[in-house]
Amino acid sequence: MEISVDGDSVPLGGDLNWQVRLSQMPLPLSIENNPILLRALNSLIEEGRIEPNLGLELYSVSNLNSLFTLANMVKQSRFENQIFFNQNLHVNTTNICVLACRFCAFRKGPRHEDAYELSVEEYLHRIEPFSSSIDEVHSVGGLHPVWDVTHYEELYKSAKAKFPHIHIKSLTAVEIKHLSKRSNLTVKETLQRLKNSGLDSIPGGGAEILVDKIRDRICRGKESSSEYLNIHKEAHNLGIPTNCTMLFGTIETIQDRIVHLDLLRKLQDETNGFQCFVPYPFLPDFSRLPEAQLASSNEILRMIAISRLMLDNIPHIKAYRMNIGDDIAQLALLSGADDIDGTVGHEEIMHSAGSTTALDSSNQDLIRLINQTGQVAVRRNTVYSKFNIENAQVTVSNSLPLLV
Ligand code: SF4
Repeated sequence: MEISVDGDSVPLGGDLNWQVRLSQMPLPLSIENNPILLRALNSLIEEGRIEPNLGLELYSVSNLNSLFTLANMVKQSRFENQIFFNQNLHVNTTNICVLACRFCAFRKGPRHEDAYELSVEEYLHRIEPFSSSIDEVHSVGGLHPVWDVTHYEELYKSAKAKFPHIHIKSLTAVEIKHLSKRSNLTVKETLQRLKNSGLDSIPGGGAEILVDKIRDRICRGKESSSEYLNIHKEAHNLGIPTNCTMLFGTIETIQDRIVHLDLLRKLQDETNGFQCFVPYPFLPDFSRLPEAQLASSNEILRMIAISRLMLDNIPHIKAYRMNIGDDIAQLALLSGADDIDGTVGHEEIMHSAGSTTALDSSNQDLIRLINQTGQVAVRRNTVYSKFNIENAQVTVSNSLPLLV
């Protein structure tokens, strides 16, 4: 195993000989006896990829433990038993938004009593108490009716001047589209100015499902699928790394989910700029999008596993515990995910939608959560170029059953 985590020698995608390592792993009977999983395994070993039709067939595998085991084998072939996290803070810039996506519990109209917009000083004030313990601030927000690119330039320049060690991961694709329109700039010009002022990476939210007929029903007026992909492509071409996401469990079909994964994979073939894929389910509250299908725990884990199997060229798959909760996130770490969101000091978007995941998790709690899956917690920076193994200060038993 060539991965070392005490320096900067870990390749972004983990062990680059992952196909060889996968072929050398003992084959559980449950996979050997399942023709779909066996074809998927052989295809990954021989081609490094499974085609969309086979991805679709994975949805018909009824033995979920076997599916999760195969996804975990692929994860292990890249990263062994390491699970990555970082320490970050979410600061949302404003909840005022000129759009009204049907699944969104966060946005407010400008005159709503709970509407807010952070001044630059308020933004810095939010970061201040956490500045010595975090290495990343994650900032997204609504589409503000007045702010243009100059507001964000001031925001990022001020944050970098005061907290030069903190990585700024900010703006969704639709915010970038909105800013470029408001500023009479191209997307490329907007991104270049934002990068020059301190934007380090883009979190990837807002992909929802990259199928326009679904977008038209759940988030009409948002960027189209091709616009989402083009904005990320422009960012990659400017050297700005991005993540990508999927909101599932609304009204999409499983075919739509596979189309989504395939589109991301094709762009990654071209640019190699995606670092991490973050799939998360719609959280219902019976008032927004009442026709949503809703995702069960099994469905969430199935989605994590299929993401790992389909996205051979996007190295990291995140268990987004702010959305799926700590218990399912822990199981996701045994079903293909290698990354988990870190010690989040503050989060609004998922909590507005009903998430009950505890905030202010200490490093120790998160490390314990990872260790309880029988794996090693590795703290990383945002761009996966620095790593440190973190140890829990108490002895923990590996009491969770392994999925075999
Ligand atoms: S998801 Fe984003 S763009 Fe859509 S309404 Fe909410 S804040 Fe606005």
